[in-house]
Amino acid sequence: MKPPPFEYHAPRSVAEAMEVLAAAGPEGKVLAGGQSLIPLLNMRLVAPGHLVDVNRLTELDTVEAEPGGVRVGALARHARVERSAGAAAAQPLLRQALRLVAHPVIRNRGTVVGSLVHADPAAELPAVLALLGGSVRLARPGAVRDVPAAGFFTGPLESAAEPGELAVSAFFPALGPRCGTAFHEVARRHGDYALAGVAALVSLDDGLRVTAARAVCVSAGPVPVVVDVTGHVAGTSPAVVSGAAVSGAAGTGTSGAGAFADGWAAAARAVAGRVEPEDDIHASAAYRRHLTCVLAERALREAAASAADDVGTRR
Ligand SMILES: Cc1cc2nc3c(=O)[nH]c(=O)nc-3n(C[C@H](O)[C@H](O)[C@H](O)COP(=O)(O)OP(=O)(O)OC[C@H]3O[C@@H](n4cnc5c(N)ncnc54)[C@H](O)[C@@H]3O)c2cc1C
Repeated sequence: MKPPPFEYHAPRSVAEAMEVLAAAGPEGKVLAGGQSLIPLLNMRLVAPGHLVDVNRLTELDTVEAEPGGVRVGALARHARVERSAGAAAAQPLLRQALRLVAHPVIRNRGTVVGSLVHADPAAELPAVLALLGGSVRLARPGAVRDVPAAGFFTGPLESAAEPGELAVSAFFPALGPRCGTAFHEVARRHGDYALAGVAALVSLDDGLRVTAARAVCVSAGPVPVVVDVTGHVAGTSPAVVSGAAVSGAAGTGTSGAGAFADGWAAAARAVAGRVEPEDDIHASAAYRRHLTCVLAERALREAAASAADDVGTRR
């Protein structure tokens, strides 16, 4: 199919792009990598009167490791962020997630910020932003605002970006000391959107006791679902070596590797209990919930192991 007719704009600066978008109002849509928008246009699921192509705005093609995190400009492609050593060092979850996004050819065109604005509940990057508590910077002539992830994803394919606004960058907070992350998902074919996926962030203290544990799920409801499971594992004191728990669980009133494993299993069940997947042609809701439980335990354990490695390197 072919897209409905639209007026095409190719601004040369951010200022010009904002002017064009502001003038177009609700009729305007930004074209970034086009990996989600072009299919929607071709299927005639959207019909904007004006398409504002931001691909010439090289000033937005940036990946900057700032104090405290990584700021990704609106024209930075998935592949560029995935390859960035600075971004991976500051926040490893970015690379862990980007490897799971579609195929290399799509990552060569698609943008990180475009994925956030598109707000697909099956997409990895909105989940990452939500888990880390990042933000998206939105601009229109004379006004800039940073919207925290908690308020940015408002529904399936809906975000807080309003008509006339240009998303100029996104900020992903850095990984703290003694913290670890992991991302696991299941898709029918490599590169497909996940049937279910879970990213986890675990923090330990110097004594290898868990101080915080959170998970976020994809394909599990209308928006990324962040679940704090600290209560199930706080104070556990695992000696985690290469992903294997080998010692006791001080904070649970029991001891030994079994208690440690039970804590993570309970945490995973708590995550799965919070998701709201739906039946569709790809999988039943029950199967997605089962996958979420299995993936949550895997991701939480791996994140804990990674945090323990970090504690080890600091000693
Ligand atoms: C076959 C296939 C498989 C895929 N698999 C996955 C997957 O597994 N996981 C995944 O996460 N994604 C997947 N994608 C989507 C891909 O990651 C897209 O690149 C991404 O969702 C959107 O980025 P984009 O730059 O292409 O945005 P576009 O398609 O250009 O735009 C998407 C939407 O965001 C808006 N937008 C984009 N940039 C801005 C901006 N700066 N300011 C305001 N609005 C903006 C557009 O107006 C549009 O509404 C897949 C795509 C394809 C074609």
